[in-house]
Amino acid sequence: MEWGVGALIIVPLVLVSLQAVNALAEQKGEARFRILREAMVREQIADPPDYRRPVRNRRVLQAMGTVPRHLFVKKQDIPWAYRDHPLPIGHGQTISQPYIVALMSDLLDVTPEQRVLEVGTGSGYQAAILSRLVKDVFTVEIIEVLAQQADARLERLGYRNVHVKMADGYYGWKAHAPFDRIIVTAAATLVPPPLIRQLKPGGKMCIPVGARYAIQYLTMIDKSETGDITMRKLLPVRFVPLTRTLR
Ligand code: SAH
Repeated sequence: MEWGVGALIIVPLVLVSLQAVNALAEQKGEARFRILREAMVREQIADPPDYRRPVRNRRVLQAMGTVPRHLFVKKQDIPWAYRDHPLPIGHGQTISQPYIVALMSDLLDVTPEQRVLEVGTGSGYQAAILSRLVKDVFTVEIIEVLAQQADARLERLGYRNVHVKMADGYYGWKAHAPFDRIIVTAAATLVPPPLIRQLKPGGKMCIPVGARYAIQYLTMIDKSETGDITMRKLLPVRFVPLTRTLR
């Protein structure tokens, strides 16, 4: 009976300190990921060591430096989340290389009041980056499981201005069209005409174009205020193909 009072005090103390240890471990983990993320931004994006053109857009670098990429990859790939390459996300799909995400975000030349359509949600990472740069991101994914996972992940992480839909992105997202910007993160053999229609006059689209598993070119499409279309091929890239069947 006599130790009962002591236990009443000790048990809560032990619980409190366990919580403190957990919180500390979490903070340490987060700090470690922040260091990796900052190194990624510096060494792969702002100042790449090779032929790649540096991305210097301050807002893009800030977004790349804050969105926790390690929470968008498979658990077993967390140690490689900030490396200079794409990673598998299941169902034969990939999360793009960080540099490509930054480059496409930069090329889109966005401003905070804009609404953007993304075709190819995948992990939701590119959508999360864009959500820091624009007002709303509408993103369409053709593989049901990936759409559901990305939606849940974005919700959990608090990216409230990203809206996910499971559908064939070839047709865009008519209910929310037209868009200031469109980004396609799967390679199309031809630019889908519905996407051109859903682009506002004065709008821009960034899309990899080319034959399946052959050389594709990251392509910028500009729609003038009068509706004229111009296309600029920028650089060779390799994306998974834009497919046409719901899975
Ligand atoms: N942006 C993603 C990476 C995309 S990988 C990220 O940040 O993680 C390309 C994605 O496009 C895949 O998830 C693939 O399922 C999807 N996709 C392919 N064809 C599509 C289509 N017609 N409509 C919508 N999504 C498509």
